[in-house]
Amino acid sequence: MNFETFNLHPSIMAGVRALGYSIPTPIQVQAIPPIMQGRDVIGLAQTGTGKTAAFVLPILEHLRSGPQGCVRALVISPTRELAEQTCEVINGLGSKTSLQSVAIYGGVSMEQQIRGLRSGAGIVVACPGRLLDHLWKGTISLSELEILVIDEADRMFDMGFLPDIRNILRCILHEHQTLLFSATMPENIRRLARQILHDPVTVQVGRTLPAKTVSHVLYPVQQHLKTELLKKILDGTQTESVLIFTRTKHRAERVAQQLVRAGYRVTSLQGNLSQNQRQAALTGFRNGSIKILVATDIAARGIDVLSISHVINYDMPESTDDYIHRIGRTGRVEKNGEALTLVTNADAGKIRALEQLLDAPLKRLTLQGFDYTRPAPDTEPCLSQQPRRRVVRRHEIGRQTAMR
Ligand code: AMP
Repeated sequence: MNFETFNLHPSIMAGVRALGYSIPTPIQVQAIPPIMQGRDVIGLAQTGTGKTAAFVLPILEHLRSGPQGCVRALVISPTRELAEQTCEVINGLGSKTSLQSVAIYGGVSMEQQIRGLRSGAGIVVACPGRLLDHLWKGTISLSELEILVIDEADRMFDMGFLPDIRNILRCILHEHQTLLFSATMPENIRRLARQILHDPVTVQVGRTLPAKTVSHVLYPVQQHLKTELLKKILDGTQTESVLIFTRTKHRAERVAQQLVRAGYRVTSLQGNLSQNQRQAALTGFRNGSIKILVATDIAARGIDVLSISHVINYDMPESTDDYIHRIGRTGRVEKNGEALTLVTNADAGKIRALEQLLDAPLKRLTLQGFDYTRPAPDTEPCLSQQPRRRVVRRHEIGRQTAMR
């Protein structure tokens, strides 16, 4: 199958060629025809499958005719990065059309967004909180909305955005087409879908399994040796761009600092950064000037860098869903990628769940020459230097409790 089958307007086909797409991905093959017929669609697809173009192409085709200068399509995204990236896909595929899009998210001034809206953007890509701000201020109108896309619905739910989504939906009272994309279908999303979609067509790609182009390897190691092992892995592996995931933002920051001190060009992406810092980190990683990015799950939502050759889980993700999301960053659209996970004894249950999902045992690797027995620095069994137990004096007890 090729893109000609969809009968897209030549100006949109020019955009498809400009982005170098030659063959539609499976989610595009399945989702584009029913969306173009005006049907509501549930798209079960993880990132990296080409799901963005699957809804952007029909939107561009639909918006070519009809009223201009008002918001006719709205994409709700969980994060600003994903919103920016969706806008980039819209701008790329729509580069030979006159359609305009605007990204709306918090952490930056509303003024520029208001100017974008006033200049007649037909497509808005928005994060829920800031979109509600605009709706309450009356700086956006959804009265002409024809197509609503809820992207990465499961993430939106994880991030606590479901009440916001429901508030947004209350502002769109007239009939419209709704598309809901999600990598997984937890019960809350299923319920939302039942409530807001009309006779939807469900298209599903690869169920909730990771892309076949990714190979998975576990590195068993003690917690305190993880950074040392990570450095050895980085030194001994041919990589392009590497995305490292940690469980907490504090740890993302710390691992990035440890790698910088060891001489690697690294940046980190975690919730403590300002919008400018996030943008700078992402730009450096995207343009390849920085090859290693350390991030938390939430901060890394929507990172779309085609040359990510390795995803390294410094910490085992909380759930198999998170694992799929994380490694969805590599092996994108027929590129090969590797997912390496540093695991400790405490991760046994999570590993079992993952092996069940993948329906295969995962390969365990040990690095030749790496000292796996080195004790943690503060538990060195050196009896002569055992720190003497400090006696807590009576007058200190109150102070210690207050400090806790
Ligand atoms: P997504 O799943 O939408 O995040 O897309 C993942 C990546 O695949 C993006 O970099 C897209 O530009 C790229 N992509 C989408 N569709 C195609 C296609 N038909 N051929 C090649 N690359 C594509």
